[in-house]
Amino acid sequence: MKEKVTIVGAGLVGSLWALFMARRGYKVDVYERRGDMRAAGFVGGRSINLAMSTRGWKALEKAGIIDLIRDNGLPMHGRMMHDTEGNLTYQAYGTEGQAIYSVSRGGLNLELIEAADKHPNVDFHFNHKCKRLDVRKNTLHFENESGEHIEITPDLIFGADGAYSAVRFALQKTPRFNYSQEYLDYGYKELTFSPKENGEAPLKMGSLHIWPRGSFMLIALPNLDNTFTGTLFMPYKGDPGFDDIKTDEDVKQFFEKYFPDAMPVMPELYDDFRDNPTGDLITVRCDPWQYGEKILLMGDASHAIVPFYGQGMNSGFEDCSVLDEMADEYNENWPTIIRKFSETRVKDANAIADLALRNFIEMRDLVGDPMFLLRKKIASHLHKKYPDFMPVYSMVSFSNIPYSQALAEAGRQDAFFEKILAIDGIEEKWNGAEVEAVFEEWNKAKV
Ligand SMILES: Cc1cc2nc3c(=O)[nH]c(=O)nc-3n(C[C@H](O)[C@H](O)[C@H](O)COP(=O)(O)OP(=O)(O)OC[C@H]3O[C@@H](n4cnc5c(N)ncnc54)[C@H](O)[C@@H]3O)c2cc1C
Repeated sequence: MKEKVTIVGAGLVGSLWALFMARRGYKVDVYERRGDMRAAGFVGGRSINLAMSTRGWKALEKAGIIDLIRDNGLPMHGRMMHDTEGNLTYQAYGTEGQAIYSVSRGGLNLELIEAADKHPNVDFHFNHKCKRLDVRKNTLHFENESGEHIEITPDLIFGADGAYSAVRFALQKTPRFNYSQEYLDYGYKELTFSPKENGEAPLKMGSLHIWPRGSFMLIALPNLDNTFTGTLFMPYKGDPGFDDIKTDEDVKQFFEKYFPDAMPVMPELYDDFRDNPTGDLITVRCDPWQYGEKILLMGDASHAIVPFYGQGMNSGFEDCSVLDEMADEYNENWPTIIRKFSETRVKDANAIADLALRNFIEMRDLVGDPMFLLRKKIASHLHKKYPDFMPVYSMVSFSNIPYSQALAEAGRQDAFFEKILAIDGIEEKWNGAEVEAVFEEWNKAKV
């Protein structure tokens, strides 16, 4: 008899993992705090999007639903940087044909729920909030919308209930459970870019747009309906800071000064700024991710990261692929899988958390720096000429190489580029013999 599985959270990771387990023949119950987004008409609401890259696609392919999602993704082949004069600089993310994809968060979650719900082995229980978990008895306590108390004791529990996980909260009270949470002093606000009067997209399609401004930045990702979703990342306190932008006049002055080319295509700016909440940015780390042989955390519940590498969902989806591979390797022996998954994966989650924090500085500041752009140009040249050299961004976004290896390589590549950029007249010599000689020497030292 296969174990009875309960997943807490029908977000991106919980719904996808439900499908994985159902396809293996497990009976899966998913408990979700919110109502059924299909009934609530989530899709008709605002367009909030996410960047999907190789790790995310791999998991969707393994789950057999890549075709459902692929057509709804808009490719972004590079970054389009906007300076304060409205001048544009473009920088490709990878080699020709490589792209990350802008996908609607609501649309994706809905497709995942729909795909899992169609499977006869899956039952969703919406409006069920997990209030408590008794880790010793493996008993979950939920409250439904009528305030009734529901108690269940499944064989396996997967906590996919996000950054403020109730399942993790129960584990935090167990012996030798390590936990840390760290907020950035920054918040974020989502803002809409509307189509032009003639219906055309407000910004050039095919790119992720960035307005890097040193201590803060605005980014925008395309949607299928010719709108773009912008996100302003800025400190709460500071000059400028969210705390000091209170009135429409403050918003006007701030945007006129820093984002003059964006303003004309943001007709809802004042309403958005006033009505949309300012979100917090948190990094959560913990270890172990499991309790005993029956309870496991996954997705943001065990590793919430800041969004600057676009890898939060991708790493959560990779949790599903890795677990599925382990299920094959260990013949569905869940006590072993749960222990091994926690033992091996924490270091990768910590690595992408570090890389994401690092990328924040790159995006808000360095992408406007000529030396940084030169570094990217040299990296791209070397990548083309020496296929075994992979820039860190490509390792993270266009490969399935463990994040911990990508982080180690980031340190090595920093040291290499420091040397290269110090070459006299590097601006002219960037693709010349001297650079290649230093590269070959450095590359030999790898093995
Ligand atoms: C501004 C921003 C931009 C981002 N951009 C990207 C990006 O471009 N690419 C990317 O890969 N990632 C991105 N992310 C990260 C991504 O959103 C998360 O990593 C992803 O949503 C995690 O999925 P999850 O299923 O683990 O958690 P969630 O999506 O948070 O889902 C958790 C679910 O659990 C439910 N739940 C919570 N508590 C309970 C409870 N007590 N009982 C029952 N149910 C409960 C919630 O209602 C929710 O449905 C971004 C995040 C932010 C904040």
